[in-house]
Amino acid sequence: MKIISINAGSSSLKFSLFDMEDKKVIASGLFERIGIEGSSYTIKYNGEKIKEEVELNNHTDAVKILLDKLVTLNIIKSLDEIDGVGHRLVHGKDKYKESCLITNEVVNDLTLFKDFAPLHNPANVLGIEAFKEVLPNVPMVGVFDTAFHQTMDEESYLYPVPYSWYKEHGVRKYGFHGTSHRYIAKTISEKLGKKDLKIISCHVGNGGSITAIKDGKCVDTSMGFTPLAGIMMGTRSGDIDPSIITYIMEQEGLNAKEVIDDLNKKSGLLGLSEISSDMRDIVNAMNNDDEEGVKARRAFLKYTRTVTNYIAQYYVLLGGVDAICFTAGLGENSEPFRKKVCDNLACLGVKLDNEANKVMGEFKKISSDDSTIPVYVVPTDEELMIALDTLKLIS
Ligand code: ADP
Repeated sequence: MKIISINAGSSSLKFSLFDMEDKKVIASGLFERIGIEGSSYTIKYNGEKIKEEVELNNHTDAVKILLDKLVTLNIIKSLDEIDGVGHRLVHGKDKYKESCLITNEVVNDLTLFKDFAPLHNPANVLGIEAFKEVLPNVPMVGVFDTAFHQTMDEESYLYPVPYSWYKEHGVRKYGFHGTSHRYIAKTISEKLGKKDLKIISCHVGNGGSITAIKDGKCVDTSMGFTPLAGIMMGTRSGDIDPSIITYIMEQEGLNAKEVIDDLNKKSGLLGLSEISSDMRDIVNAMNNDDEEGVKARRAFLKYTRTVTNYIAQYYVLLGGVDAICFTAGLGENSEPFRKKVCDNLACLGVKLDNEANKVMGEFKKISSDDSTIPVYVVPTDEELMIALDTLKLIS
């Protein structure tokens, strides 16, 4: 049985083809600059990688070429081998509490909810429509980023604003990266052989969110109404005092959308360091004995402080914790980032094993044996989670 996981963006389409017998990726790749000059695709399979420039006017072109290449490169014998297509979908509001088969209603809802994810929901629809056209008889499953967080209670998801904003306009915390946090909860639970765990899952990449999980269910999460909230990120501010927005509008003569744009794209590590949005650049500059070093250190310290604060908050919310898990670009790879956060948590009895903390991109316990809370690196795999949900729903 073979399943394709799809992540469609406004001008890109990422895929992974899984053999569900052994849950391994047979081929993966990316179609880029769809509808833009200079479009191309990359396909990796069997230890090989091919990249070709090709005209891609729309997502349907990309899907046609993808399926054609899977056959002509002998990755599959015929399209009949594809049993299901799983789509990463971003925003399902409070209607979608779990993954589901994609029907016309789902497609209509994605469009209806587009104001909640203006970049992502319309792109997700393009991906679905393209597969519907090219593989009309293959079932499709939608896996929402927001679904896992639907178990939050009112105390977690409501904002202390006029209640009518929630009732009439849907203003509440939705949370994101849900598929990744769900994968982390499932994996750590399997590895430790226990179901009733209290977990703090730290998905820290370019974007990042921290989630408190109890018995496999989300209790609270750091992202909010949009992915701008929560911890400081690569280019996003995370939580700030909302009055800053109107103040900067007046001071800089900007409109609200322009300020929000700056909070999304010019803030976070990039904004505070004035060096880069990439933690590797920040860490490289941190030991410099000059102005660069000062800028890098202030960005690093603020970043790790905001992550620490959420972990501490969720430790209290969960009433203790059985495992802190780090995942995504930084969580899986950045030794100095994890060290600083864990050192900040020393008063809770967290102790790092500095040798184990050198790990990159592999499952590993990185706390020492006398740490009161075990800390793990757990590589995330949203594509596999999408494929597993698809398998379950089409079986
Ligand atoms: P996205 O949120 O866009 O999916 P990723 O999860 O790929 O992002 O994370 C990207 C970030 O992870 C980079 O900006 C970088 O700061 C960090 N990162 C990736 N690899 C490393 C590494 N080897 N060491 C330190 N940081 C890394």
